[in-house]
Amino acid sequence: MDFEFTEEQLAVRDMARDFAQKKVKPLAAELDREAKYPKNLVREMAELKLLGVSVPEEYGGAGMDMVSYILALQEVSQACASTGVIMSVNNSLACEPIKSFASDAQKKKFLTPLASGEKIGCYCLTEPEAGSDAANQKTIAVKKGAAYFLTGTKQFITNGYEADLAIVYALTDPAKGKKGISAFIVDAKTPGFKVSKKERKLGIRGSSCVQISLDNVEVPAENLLHIEGEGLKVALSTLEVGRIGIAAQANGISAAALECSLEYTKERHQFGKAIADFQAIQFMLADMAVRLDAAQLLTYKAAHLKGQGKRTALESSQAKLFASEACMKNAWTAVQVHGGYGYVEDYIPERLFRDAKITEIYEGTSEIQRLVIAQNILSAGI
Ligand SMILES: Cc1cc2nc3c(=O)[nH]c(=O)nc-3n(C[C@H](O)[C@H](O)[C@H](O)COP(=O)(O)OP(=O)(O)OC[C@H]3O[C@@H](n4cnc5c(N)ncnc54)[C@H](O)[C@@H]3O)c2cc1C
Repeated sequence: MDFEFTEEQLAVRDMARDFAQKKVKPLAAELDREAKYPKNLVREMAELKLLGVSVPEEYGGAGMDMVSYILALQEVSQACASTGVIMSVNNSLACEPIKSFASDAQKKKFLTPLASGEKIGCYCLTEPEAGSDAANQKTIAVKKGAAYFLTGTKQFITNGYEADLAIVYALTDPAKGKKGISAFIVDAKTPGFKVSKKERKLGIRGSSCVQISLDNVEVPAENLLHIEGEGLKVALSTLEVGRIGIAAQANGISAAALECSLEYTKERHQFGKAIADFQAIQFMLADMAVRLDAAQLLTYKAAHLKGQGKRTALESSQAKLFASEACMKNAWTAVQVHGGYGYVEDYIPERLFRDAKITEIYEGTSEIQRLVIAQNILSAGI
């Protein structure tokens, strides 16, 4: 067992840290306040190859490993969780399924622009009636000649407002239920593909979250991703990577919570001394540090195994569950140690507290992660 990062991994982390601290962090409060998509930052991430970190260079990516991706994502998320999720969705949910399941011709056509950041991707699995029960898809894909025609509604789609390409799940054979789901790569400019609602959110307000209506959207048959009827496999396999990404986003928020708490408690004086001198405060700081470290270890382990091409349903869920709950507790603690200043907009904890909550919900709620973990340990043991 080796707990050291490689030189390449550290180089990617340091590059991402430099970018995040100098360019992203100064804008985070404004992006949140104005619910503004960070267009220029996304362009800069593209230039730094942060939108396809673990995609091979021949397809426009940085050609780095999964651990490097996770380290970079944590750095960006520590500076701004909204920018973090935009990066996470493009890497994990748009590039990954194409990298893992597409033909070479599809990779050249779709992966290269996504990984290079020329185009932005989104992932359309959730529907009004298919949230935790993702297999309960209602969107239909009817094949006519050399095309499929997609009709349905997709709910809560991150990056959906800006996306050029969407990975869309739909039923090609409704009679087969979850075995009748297929995955498609859809050009968002196709007639009938429409943003029908833009959500106003509690946190990660700099990223878009939209409802998409699909009205007889014509998708060339060559855009079928993988095999007809294997869409759920594509979706769940993608979420194994996605959940490690959300764990990294959560760790970024956790680290930001600890960072500002360490600074503030040394500066803030009450009863004639720094509040960091009170043991009650020290215990809270200690718990934050342990939670962050444990969450990072689970996240790095899952990323390392995924990078070796292993199935990581268990490890991805463990990392996501623990990291998101640790993140929520650390954000809560950051507010607490800041007292009243933690509750107002001028200080970072107020935003971290709102941003943290989503990590316990998207890409599978904590309840769903516990179900996945329980199913795995009940069938395979520990
Ligand atoms: C900001 C945001 C961004 C998102 N981005 C995307 C995206 O890019 N692409 C995408 O496809 N989706 C996205 N989602 C959707 C997200 O993944 C779902 O919201 C999430 O999976 C939960 O589904 P739901 O909202 O329908 O809740 P429900 O499934 O209705 O769950 C409601 C409650 O019931 C619980 N519950 C449900 N089933 C069970 C069970 N079997 N056992 C115990 N408890 C259960 C849940 O844990 C939860 O507490 C996003 C959501 C949000 C809010």
